[in-house]
Amino acid sequence: MSDLTKFTIAEAREKLKGGEFTASELTEAYLTAIDAANASFNAYVEVTHDHAREMAKASDEKLVKGEAGALEGIPLGIKDLYATRGVHTQACSHVLDRFLPHYESTVTANLWADGAVMLGKLNMDEFAMGSSNETSYYGPVLNPWKSRGSNAELVPGGSSGGSAASVAAHLCAGATATDTGGSIRQPAAFTGTVGIKPTYGRCSRWGIVAFASSLDQAGPIARDVRDAAIMLKSMASVDDRDTTSVDVPVPDYEAAIGKSVKGMKIGIPKEYRVDGMPEEIDALWKKGAEWFRDAGAELVDISLPHTKYALPAYYIVAPAEASSNLARYDGVRYGLRQEGSDIIDMYEKTRAAGFGAEVKRRVMIGTYVLSAGYYDAYYLRAQKVRTLIKRDFEQAFAAGVDAILTPATPSAAFGIADQAMAADPVKMYLNDVFTVTVNMAGLPGIAVPAGLDGQGLPLGLQLIGRPFDEETLFQTAHVIEQAAGRFEPDRWW
Ligand code: GLN
Repeated sequence: MSDLTKFTIAEAREKLKGGEFTASELTEAYLTAIDAANASFNAYVEVTHDHAREMAKASDEKLVKGEAGALEGIPLGIKDLYATRGVHTQACSHVLDRFLPHYESTVTANLWADGAVMLGKLNMDEFAMGSSNETSYYGPVLNPWKSRGSNAELVPGGSSGGSAASVAAHLCAGATATDTGGSIRQPAAFTGTVGIKPTYGRCSRWGIVAFASSLDQAGPIARDVRDAAIMLKSMASVDDRDTTSVDVPVPDYEAAIGKSVKGMKIGIPKEYRVDGMPEEIDALWKKGAEWFRDAGAELVDISLPHTKYALPAYYIVAPAEASSNLARYDGVRYGLRQEGSDIIDMYEKTRAAGFGAEVKRRVMIGTYVLSAGYYDAYYLRAQKVRTLIKRDFEQAFAAGVDAILTPATPSAAFGIADQAMAADPVKMYLNDVFTVTVNMAGLPGIAVPAGLDGQGLPLGLQLIGRPFDEETLFQTAHVIEQAAGRFEPDRWW
């Protein structure tokens, strides 16, 4: 690792302002690291060298003039789901081949307005459907972590696998990600990084390729809690072009870090103890609770009785929305076109060739649950269950709970091409058992590294908060970070 890539965003920010190095030097250090290691990781699907250098140069001019933005000169990786003007934006799907947007997503525009530098576009599961980054048209991403004494290749989680791996391997200072059912928090947990899914409506979805519009949210993956807070502050905004974005002032999230949690109530939901979960995860969860008790918080047992319905309901709602969002990829307007004997034949050939197996599975499930005769039995019922899940959380918060502590994932990172996962898609879906509830309820959730398992792999804990109370999540996640320390993979690349 070249020297300059070791700094967190907060550290680099101060050093850039102090003139210890320039944005161009910092950017060059990251580009060199990417060029040396991306062949091993496959984390970037496009590296924007020229773009990055131009942006860094502009940042240096601003730094000299004392006009630095909040992220001036900080090199970031961008998930391929975000539209970036004139730059590779394919949601890592074949169907969007050669699509170059002529517009910029609101979130990335916010980052550039604050001075951030774009290093390139990051690998992900196709259309953000997956938990291992193996559904990407561009192939899997490698987790920088390996089990102790083993050389086996592990997944970084998904769908934001490129984001998590590149942050953990220091191939960017921080990355954008998105989370529909767990895609920020699960890969963060698998790579020893911090990921926050903010409240639904906190960030604009405009210019982010839609998967399931009522669940999708943008958020950062970063090396520590403070960096995640710095990034979210820049990413969040209300936006006329996304009517579901909410006009609530964006607080200074960094200010919440380090505040005492004395007297706070941390809820422990009994339903998050699932069958087959490794004992180590349960032990870590208990340890997390102890850390809060030591810090002066009160632990309260709570019940979220509809938890067990969250995953099945998610796998109705998310595919239903996906099937209608993905109807637009028909060979007429964007990307790939396979010629056919007539227009219907062209649609069919394009979609058959352009979508991967997992995306096709979701489109078929979604179309089925929305079809006449099944709509009430599946889709409408899933929406009702969603309301009940939301109500469970509302009752816990109404009883005075400030944040809810759970494991982030039911396991540590698993192997690439894991046989059990490949044979049964439901096994893969179970990765999100602790995270989907949060999307269904529209709440904010943060994953923070809390320890290593017996194999030396990182494990994360999750904190869930009240709507628009991301501050409490940064405050409480920092308590875990302080107690657990931070985790970096041994460098083998
Ligand atoms: N793993 C979940 C899915 O495949 C969630 C993905 C996401 O959050 N984008 O749907």
